[in-house]
Amino acid sequence: MTFCLKILGSGSSVPVYGRLHTAHLLTINNTRYLIDCGEGTQLSLMKYHLKQNRINAIFISHLHGDHYLGLTGLISSMHLLGRHKPLIIFAPPGLSEIISIQLKYSNTVISFDLRLIVLTGNRLHLIHETPTQTVHSFPLDHRVPCWGFIFREKPKSRRINKEKIPEKILIRDIIRLKSGKDLTDHSGRVIYKNKDLTFPPKKSRSYAYCSDTVYDPRIISYINGVDLLYHESTFLKEKEDIASKTYHTTSEQAAMIAKAANAKKLIIGHYSARYKDISEFRSEAVKTFGETELALEGKTFCVEE
Ligand SMILES: [Zn+2]
Ligand SMILES: [Zn+2]
Repeated sequence: MTFCLKILGSGSSVPVYGRLHTAHLLTINNTRYLIDCGEGTQLSLMKYHLKQNRINAIFISHLHGDHYLGLTGLISSMHLLGRHKPLIIFAPPGLSEIISIQLKYSNTVISFDLRLIVLTGNRLHLIHETPTQTVHSFPLDHRVPCWGFIFREKPKSRRINKEKIPEKILIRDIIRLKSGKDLTDHSGRVIYKNKDLTFPPKKSRSYAYCSDTVYDPRIISYINGVDLLYHESTFLKEKEDIASKTYHTTSEQAAMIAKAANAKKLIIGHYSARYKDISEFRSEAVKTFGETELALEGKTFCVEE
């Protein structure tokens, strides 16, 4: 089963040197989540043969243009391509007004149900749930209200050992085994121990998206133990004072967060337009956290089960 993150845009304020505004696409089995939607997101989706209307929900971290200016264009395309299934967008207060005005003055009545859910709260908050996944938001410290997101698979069932289970077994016993229970007779005596007939469940995977933020160790408790961690890294260490003044982070600080949070892998991005060559970002981060990769357009990061 798939758990893969595709980088659609890795840049910040101004699109430069082939780096587009920020957008990520997370695929968990058949579900596709778009996370931020900067200008150029549609072109990226097309370049990598990812259909707009396969997206199930969109998560917008904050209302700086480099994170959402592609959104109305994407919604318009979904409408023109005949979308009928509902689209949920999680976004800060104000986005509903922005989209409504753009649709109003283009006299567009979209063909599908657009549900806008306003992000609120100053702690970890469950915002979306399916039978197999959860999504939580958490606050980030930026110049405007900003939220990060954690996408998790729910705990999975134990796996049946087909070579060990009795030949004639009832469906309800299979269900008991998958839920971790032993098989018992009418008097409650254990006939088969669960561990003798099953394998442990497959791993439940997770991805945390930490959008624009000043260096903020308060987020560590929210993202602890995550498999994939994206953390913005707008500047190199030498510009730490500018990073802090503009409510951004350096590559070293992003690595410090990943290390303290026991993340398995760190992806850094949102590079300032002042840097043409971004290789230094990784060299700097790996000194603190070895498992660091650069976000680059088209790059895919998958987590095994
Ligand atoms: Zn930004
Ligand atoms: Zn920002």
